[in-house]
Amino acid sequence: MTFLVIGIDAATWKIIKPNINELKNFRRLMKIGRYKTLILNEKPISASAWCSIFSGKTPEEHKHKAFVENGNLKTRDDIKVDFIWDILHKQNYDVRALNIPFVIPPYNFNCKFKPVGYGLPETPDEWQEELEKVTSKAIEILEEKPDLLCVVYSLLDRIQHFHWNEPIVLEWYKRIDSVIGKLILYADKFIIISDHGFCDRDDAEVQTLPEKTPRGEIKGDHDKEAILITNIDYDIEKLQDVFYAIMEEMKNGQGNYGNGI
Ligand SMILES: [Zn+2]
Repeated sequence: MTFLVIGIDAATWKIIKPNINELKNFRRLMKIGRYKTLILNEKPISASAWCSIFSGKTPEEHKHKAFVENGNLKTRDDIKVDFIWDILHKQNYDVRALNIPFVIPPYNFNCKFKPVGYGLPETPDEWQEELEKVTSKAIEILEEKPDLLCVVYSLLDRIQHFHWNEPIVLEWYKRIDSVIGKLILYADKFIIISDHGFCDRDDAEVQTLPEKTPRGEIKGDHDKEAILITNIDYDIEKLQDVFYAIMEEMKNGQGNYGNGI
């Protein structure tokens, strides 16, 4: 059995729900599973939110609030928590983490992967490259039937910052929808989650980028409404619950998950 967590940075129901007939994998998974809006209790900052999701800790506990601190990029070792993969690995589960953007460049556990654009893909070519490279690496891992794979796509966040309210955004949701369809074939249990939602820059909870950048004007930014789709029973109410949901599922699935004790 494989438990698959697919993170889609910045995915929002604002795009998915009105276009659901064009997003057939989202539609199918929402139908066979359950879905909801996760309202963040914390600031919708990617570094902090992904850290909360995979450590089960609040920002006050994990103290990782931004990619940069005192002018330096923070690294995994600066964050004094055990992540879900650290804990389950010690319990002999086969656990992999691919392209997890709580640090720049994104973090990998038990797999080798070179992130596209240092984890900040900014051109259409880089967005496509990330989509393809992350997907093919994820499939390579899933073929080995790990107990848990956590994988994150970061491209939608970048696309929406530059193109919010433009038709091109939906095109990329369709491409994400298509790769979800490929990965999900390997999963018995799944969680699909975003770290925050998205909205007009002027309405945003946080302005994570200046209005004008060398790559163009910033049109959208983060809000507090993340998405969740899952086929597990655990009641996920906040980002941190994902950690506990996975732990619980692994415990209940003892014997079903390959290498578990
Ligand atoms: Zn994000």
